[in-house]
Amino acid sequence: MKFRNHSISHRMTLTIIGVSSFFAVLTMLIQLIWNYQESIDKTTADIREYSESILPTVAKSLWDVDHGLLSDLLSGLGMMPMVASVNLESVDGVTIQMGKSIEAHHDANQTLFYYPVKYQDQQIGMLIVGLDTNKLYYELWQQLIFIVLGNGFKTLIMIYLILTLVRLLVTNRLSALERFANQINLNSLPKLNVPMSVMQRPDEIGYVAQSLQAMYQRIRNDLAINKRQQRALQQQQNQLARLVDERTQELNWQSKANQLLAEISLQFLTTDTSKLDESLVEVCRRIGNLFDVERVSIIEFTQQQARYRSFWSCEPQADLVQDIPVDIAAVLAQKFTSESTLVIESVDELANDSPEEYRALCSVGICSIAAYAIKNNNQLLGLLSLSMVSRPLNWSVQKKVMLTQFAAALNELLLREEKERQMLSLQQALVSVNTQLRVMAETDELTGLSNRRPFTQTLEVLLQQRAPIGLLMLDIDYFKSYNDTYGHLEGDEALRHVAQALMQSGILPQDSLLARIGGEEFAIILEHITPIQLEAIANQLCYQVAALDIPHRSSPKGKITLSIGGVFLPLDTAKKLTLSEVLRRADICLYRAKDQGRNTVVIDSNRN
Ligand code: GH3
Ligand code: MG
Ligand code: MG
Repeated sequence: MKFRNHSISHRMTLTIIGVSSFFAVLTMLIQLIWNYQESIDKTTADIREYSESILPTVAKSLWDVDHGLLSDLLSGLGMMPMVASVNLESVDGVTIQMGKSIEAHHDANQTLFYYPVKYQDQQIGMLIVGLDTNKLYYELWQQLIFIVLGNGFKTLIMIYLILTLVRLLVTNRLSALERFANQINLNSLPKLNVPMSVMQRPDEIGYVAQSLQAMYQRIRNDLAINKRQQRALQQQQNQLARLVDERTQELNWQSKANQLLAEISLQFLTTDTSKLDESLVEVCRRIGNLFDVERVSIIEFTQQQARYRSFWSCEPQADLVQDIPVDIAAVLAQKFTSESTLVIESVDELANDSPEEYRALCSVGICSIAAYAIKNNNQLLGLLSLSMVSRPLNWSVQKKVMLTQFAAALNELLLREEKERQMLSLQQALVSVNTQLRVMAETDELTGLSNRRPFTQTLEVLLQQRAPIGLLMLDIDYFKSYNDTYGHLEGDEALRHVAQALMQSGILPQDSLLARIGGEEFAIILEHITPIQLEAIANQLCYQVAALDIPHRSSPKGKITLSIGGVFLPLDTAKKLTLSEVLRRADICLYRAKDQGRNTVVIDSNRN
């Protein structure tokens, strides 16, 4: 690590080594100087003491000129440690020298001590003792090595002990604190503990470690509280967002439902009830898509029977559920006699309380249903039913309310249809009565033929259209005398007989009109005919009636006969003539036929 060189341990090591070395060197120097001084002092004291002790003997020997004794005494002195030279100079010039030459006064390696030699209070010579400082230095140097080695070793042991102590008490614990601090991650704040060995000691580092541990724990607690608060806040936000989402969906759905209701209501208002079934299937489909259900049906009740008036399903096998069994119809009818709605989110709810309903719904595969009764003055007309077959469905209050409105709209429609159906049957009855009345008004009661009214109307229309037509007027001959002879009732019977013969003769074309226009007078309008065909038909009719052989004894022929006057009106002529003119011309022909002896035909086909 780059800050290792600046670590406390490193700096302490350097400082301790520096300071220890400094003091060791200082101590050694002081000790050396002290030792040097002490050696000098001790040596000089010894030499002085010894010299002074032998000085009287030396003085006597010198006085007595006892060279042997002098030599022994001076040798003894010269034998003393660090004595480099011993010189005895007498006042009369005799010199005895031991060791180095005394000449070397200025020998830097010698320190000279002078002792006057006195005999009987008279100085008879001078004892000069030379001290060898080199030897002294050499001894000091020898001492210095031991001192340096001893002090150095001592210092090293002390440094080692101090460093070990510092490492144990400070740096190791600080490193543990550093590792602890480095492991701290403010994003996750894992569970961390400062090692007990760091905290246990009641010293500054221990207190710092305890404070750090407590602070970290506080931060963790704060963060945990923060996280809990954030989570709670997030949950609230999510809940709020979900609520807003749900409300928006509800509003959107409500808007779509209202729009569909408005469209369906409008469609119901304008729809032709005779083509209602097609539009009801489409309505069921749209309601099914809006409510997201699998089946929508409109069921109609008629005398304990129920049938699907309209059925929509998103199932592929939808055709298979088209019949409602009688027992289910009975259950439904009974249920909705007393109630108007049936909302079941899951049919399993019914299993215990209403086993009949449960069985009925299960038999048609329904597992969730909302059904609304369609009633007229408490009489059950039908049901609007929305159901699920694959899963239960939650019928929310909103859906129930909307379904009630759809059911109400449907109720209105079906009531209107019922009223229109009743109106239609009334109208049909009226038309039938009118037709009957019209037929009666246009039919001759006696013969069943058309009477004069349709005859004149048809003739007028044809005259307007400029169509070429033939008109025949038929009159029974001597009919007054027939009545007189056979009675009025027989006369009526004869009239019916003749009319039937004319009608069923097969002579008249399909589009011709045969009418009884007076008492015993008939008329025939023939379209798309030629004058020749007209005359032929008239002759055949005349013959046909005579061939009936209805006895008439007052007639010269002895039977009932006809006289026929006819007019043929070509295209251009028809336009110019009025009804009364045409009738008059036909009448003239009829009179002419009567004049010609009756039982004959006169046709006017040329005159204008
Ligand atoms: P012709 O035509 O040959 O000249 O003699 P006619 O006797 O038929 O003459 P007319 O037309 O005067 O007489 C018509 C008679 O028809 C008078 C009436 O008694 C009789 N008649 C008219 N309507 C009916 C009816 O509805 N039933 C019966 N039974 N007779 C009727
Ligand atoms: Mg007549
Ligand atoms: Mg007549």
